Amino acid sequence: MLKNSLSRWCLFAGLVMGGFASCGARGPAFSVVTLGCEGGLAEGNLSCYLLTRPGSGAYVALDAGTVLGGLRQAVARGSLNDCQPERGSNQSHEGWVLRQGIKAYLVSHAHIDHVSGLVIDSTDDTSKPLLGLDPTIDDLRDHLFNWKTWPNFGSEGERPLNQYRYQRLSEGNRQPIQGTDLEVQAFTLSHSNHYPSSAFLVRGGDQYLLYCGDTGPDEVERSQCLERLWAAVAPLIREGRLRGILLESSYPDGREPGLLFGHLTPEWMMKELHRLAQSVDPKNPQRALAGLKIAVTHIKPSLEKGRQPRELVQEQLKARNDLGIVFLFPEQGRRLEF
Ligand SMILES: [Zn+2]
Ligand SMILES: [Zn+2]
Repeated sequence: MLKNSLSRWCLFAGLVMGGFASCGARGPAFSVVTLGCEGGLAEGNLSCYLLTRPGSGAYVALDAGTVLGGLRQAVARGSLNDCQPERGSNQSHEGWVLRQGIKAYLVSHAHIDHVSGLVIDSTDDTSKPLLGLDPTIDDLRDHLFNWKTWPNFGSEGERPLNQYRYQRLSEGNRQPIQGTDLEVQAFTLSHSNHYPSSAFLVRGGDQYLLYCGDTGPDEVERSQCLERLWAAVAPLIREGRLRGILLESSYPDGREPGLLFGHLTPEWMMKELHRLAQSVDPKNPQRALAGLKIAVTHIKPSLEKGRQPRELVQEQLKARNDLGIVFLFPEQGRRLEF
């Protein structure tokens, strides 16, 4: 009852203060520890985010590009103090988190930069579920865990070792994530020529966080994937229950659409976020996303001299942010609160 009236007050206060998404008085509903956040090149810093509810110590990995390397950094920075080895355990702190702390993997698509850590660390991991949409599970089964590229640590295909129990998500249906008190709903994204990637809408209690895997803009992809996703999360933003979005901007501005390869830039990201804002509040879209936290992922580093894409993307999003969005830039080993 108290919680209900509090959240109603928050919704009211948020509206009065000028946005659906902001509600300063609430504590965090989710924590995200970044194990890797870049979009390629540096093999030690590839997409992997550990999601938990504060105080639970049970983590879900959102993609698994860099795992152990990121765990070492996170332990060194004190970002995983809520998940310590049991008394008497002979495991290292990072080993404990890998084996006992991570309860499940959510894989957005089977590109190597999203699964290389999972594959390499599989020899020393424990049994747990691996959740994804059909195309992702099919690709892992056929092209990675197939006794050719790597031993079959999956639960389908030839002579499976059944360490990773494939759990096929059906689009839009909410399913529990075993070993946690979280639930997930998956949505298809279009990642160059309709190659399917996915977004995961995770629910903890009555709060939500949205993780998007690699995606191009609808206009370039000639798809309606993001439009469908925005329509699904718009009511949660109106109700003040979406705590944040992890969304990619792989490149700085200035790329021709033909060279996006199924990715976003600051300009395309803002175009998509304007469509989301329109869907949240057609009457006042300029304020619809005010205060919403968006963590910018998958920025691809450059081998050229001069300013790094990360710095450019930060600057360009700041300049283009006419929606009052709070942009966050994840760093390997650090913890973000949503
Ligand atoms: Zn990809
Ligand atoms: Zn990628």
